[in-house]
Amino acid sequence: MDEIFGREGCLSDILPFYEHRTQQEEMASFLARTISSGGIAFIEAGTGTGKTVAYLIPALEYCLRENRILAVTTETKTLQKQLVDKDLPIVKKIFSDHYGIDFRYSLCLGSANYPCRKRFELMIGRGGFLFEEKDQVEDISSAFEEGKTFTRYDLNVSPLIWKEIERDSDMCGGFDCAYSKTCPFQRARKEWFSSQLLVMNHYLFFSNVAAGKTYLPKFDVVIFDEAHSVEQIAARQLGFNLSYGLLLDILERFHHRNKKMLLPKIKERSIQDESRALFFEIEKEGRLYFENARKMTDDRKRSFRVKSPLTDGEYLLDLIDRFILAISSAEADFADEPYKSEYEAARSKIASFKNALSTITKKSTSDIVVWIDREDNVNSATIYGAPIDTGPLMELEIYSFYDYTAFISATLAVNNEFTFIKNRLGAAEAETLSLDSPFDYASRVLLYLPDDLPSPQETGFTDAIAERSARLITASGGNCLILFTSYEMLKDVIPRIRILVGNEIFSQSESDSVKAVADYCAAPGSVLAGTHSFWQGLDLPGDLLTCVIITKLPFPVPDRPEIEARTERLAEKGVNPFYGFHVPSAVIQFKQGFGRLMRRNTDRGVVAVLDSRIVTKGYGKTFIQSIPECIQSSSFKDVERFMKKKGKQTAI
Ligand code: SF4
Repeated sequence: MDEIFGREGCLSDILPFYEHRTQQEEMASFLARTISSGGIAFIEAGTGTGKTVAYLIPALEYCLRENRILAVTTETKTLQKQLVDKDLPIVKKIFSDHYGIDFRYSLCLGSANYPCRKRFELMIGRGGFLFEEKDQVEDISSAFEEGKTFTRYDLNVSPLIWKEIERDSDMCGGFDCAYSKTCPFQRARKEWFSSQLLVMNHYLFFSNVAAGKTYLPKFDVVIFDEAHSVEQIAARQLGFNLSYGLLLDILERFHHRNKKMLLPKIKERSIQDESRALFFEIEKEGRLYFENARKMTDDRKRSFRVKSPLTDGEYLLDLIDRFILAISSAEADFADEPYKSEYEAARSKIASFKNALSTITKKSTSDIVVWIDREDNVNSATIYGAPIDTGPLMELEIYSFYDYTAFISATLAVNNEFTFIKNRLGAAEAETLSLDSPFDYASRVLLYLPDDLPSPQETGFTDAIAERSARLITASGGNCLILFTSYEMLKDVIPRIRILVGNEIFSQSESDSVKAVADYCAAPGSVLAGTHSFWQGLDLPGDLLTCVIITKLPFPVPDRPEIEARTERLAEKGVNPFYGFHVPSAVIQFKQGFGRLMRRNTDRGVVAVLDSRIVTKGYGKTFIQSIPECIQSSSFKDVERFMKKKGKQTAI
């Protein structure tokens, strides 16, 4: 690794502004050593380590030498794009110059992102689109004729039309399909199978696991980048969700407005009548079932945890059973295209819905947590099921399956310890490495910890954080990010700040996240305010961000059903849920929020934590000790002095 990452290594020849980073070289050497002995590794590498190149080079070197396939999975599209557009071309050049070898890599997307020519032609064949959708249909047709490998992101097509033509694994004929040679999905897949490196996101990775690892090519080594979110995403993808909207989507495959769908094709009058009657009864009963599920939730709370089987689904289950039986008895009427594939896919989907409904209606829920979330604006609900403990699933599906698994992130450790994340992911024996950021936090970041604010439980907290945020915005001249732990708090505090300052404030509660960030970047001196998604993944370097305000320590919401079930499971094992789950989860999220400030080594600014528990409670130290050492002060005067010295490296 020294030949590549060393002071005179080949990275310095390739990158004009290359700076040698001890941490990067150390990380690459650790990965090179652990990958060859196999197993599991956790690496926390602070911002600025250059971690993607530090894992790509040793992992690829090993995989190409040992004829193994590497999978790299990320949480965000931003990192995926950085990998594909920036890091991998550099790594390719290093391999070509240094090792004299070439390799292929592919970005893998989920099935529904690719168009299916066969479904498109079937839709045209049965007149399955409306007159006003004609222009979109022509655009799709032209894209197919041009023979390009295109995805949903390359066309401006409505969700309704895309739903009609997206690739559907239940009806894909694969290489037997008449369109396979020109099929965008098959072309992409061919590239995946000839690649030595596959890039994907965590959602696709775990969907592939849930699908019996049949969607993606086989691979041997897995690197989870942005690994702090793996448990949450794994639980979601390995669970299920049921809603009235999903039921309608499936039913629409059988019968939909004036589009020519499946039910009218049934020849035997009595079967067609029975299927239609059942169809409408399922529609009606499904609506009632999900309306009743919503009634189980408390008006003040979004979610309701279901602790015993939801037996009122029995009638709906019976209707679906009879419907499947009826359409199956007419199978011969769908023996040929353009209906055969659509029929098989629709039948398979309603059967999957029935199986999940059966799980929550009939079975005990001891290994999965089931809960109901009320839907916004409609009188309905979604029912979720997720494994309570992902550790055993990780062991079964990942660790025992792949040669080597690495979890990498800037935020994995709590107080330099990996115990929490290793236990959550069922990898107590894994090797670990913790690397500090090479950035100069000690002189470039002021951690402002006021000791004169009420705690979040005390009256006056909301007004106090609005007032202190306003003073911080004024002192920094805007360019501030305010992080909240809930939408309610965000909506409550922002109007109060607006009364106190004139800076423009772009809030996630008032426009979608992408637009709020774009508007903020285009308006220097403004303020950006958001909740969960803004704590991580936001990259606002230089003057775009000089002050991060953390309004409250980000403890998990204790009565969220999946959190409640996990903490109950810990208590059963004799672990204190507060210190064994709530504090470490909050520390990892807190580190993400703190990490928004320093994105480049020349950045400089203030991180203010307005939750007094960080200084008054014993556990507060764990938060402070888990972030890089920086200047600390409880005095607002120090903040003002620090802000005035913008651009200078000295402290207060
Ligand atoms: S190969 Fe599959 S995805 Fe491609 S056109 Fe045929 S059915 Fe559709």
